[in-house]
Amino acid sequence: MKCDTDGEWHRGQLEPFGLLEVSPSAGVLNYGQGIFEGLKAYRTTDGRSLLFRPEENAKRMIFGAERMCMPAPSVDTFVDAVKQTVLANKRWVPPVGKGSLYVRPLLIGTGPVLGLSKSPEYTFLVYAAPVGDYFKEGPAPIHLKVESMYSRAVHGGTGGVKTICNYAPVLKAQLTAKKEGFTDVLYLDALERKYLEEVSSCNIFIVKDNVIATPEAKGCVLPGITRKCILELAQSLGYKVEERKVDVDELMDADEAFCTGTAVVVSPVGSVTHRGTRVLFSNSGVKRVSSIFYKFLTDLQMGRTADTRGWTTEV
Ligand code: PMP
Repeated sequence: MKCDTDGEWHRGQLEPFGLLEVSPSAGVLNYGQGIFEGLKAYRTTDGRSLLFRPEENAKRMIFGAERMCMPAPSVDTFVDAVKQTVLANKRWVPPVGKGSLYVRPLLIGTGPVLGLSKSPEYTFLVYAAPVGDYFKEGPAPIHLKVESMYSRAVHGGTGGVKTICNYAPVLKAQLTAKKEGFTDVLYLDALERKYLEEVSSCNIFIVKDNVIATPEAKGCVLPGITRKCILELAQSLGYKVEERKVDVDELMDADEAFCTGTAVVVSPVGSVTHRGTRVLFSNSGVKRVSSIFYKFLTDLQMGRTADTRGWTTEV
């Protein structure tokens, strides 16, 4: 669906996946006016299809659009478009244990601009594709490289919103780390290179003496929806939870660390390498705090437990 200078979203329709025609001078191609979201539809054990907190993705898009000077669809319009896309692709939602249907809402400036200014037209679209489980046999440990050369976000920048622009600067760091045998990259603050921010596509938590801490999702860190769930769950399970600056030395000394995100759900950190020093987190899988959260979320997403929080939406 499209929005032009009148600020109104005009009704869109379902179309087969195909090419998108945009002007070479489109705002998104020249000045990066683009935001996306990522969510998954899961098949339940009794054959239903469930979305997980889609209204949270809608709210995050609205928040990001304000920073990127773009109009955004309302929560209802966003959720309705996501539901329609899942409904139209229901046969592609894989059975339990075989993955999920990844849904990608995208908001881009498609109007022509030459000088740096707002695009006169915006397009909101949703596409979907089946994906396998991130880890084939339950959550596997992630091996992180703490990045010491490249930064993901700067103060006053766009690190805290899900704009397409944030993913270009991390590609080089990510590809280099993968070549070196790491699973992913953990970014530190760009100023002091001392405080944890996040991993390329997930948030990070540390556990020490039953206290769970995670960097504040302000400014540079994306407020992950899985992160938000874990903060709520941890509190309800009686853990002390802290959102604050987390020094990289605290991570190296933690009892446990884990990452959260739509793709990884909740995955334990197996090792962290920082300036040549490698710390292994080898505590037994069943005792991990992260395994409690992983089970809780996946049971809910697959419909194996009753949803008392209203976090799932049936399609
Ligand atoms: N940080 C970044 C940079 C991400 O791309 C993602 C994935 N959306 C996350 C964190 C985790 O967010 P969520 O739990 O909403 O998937």
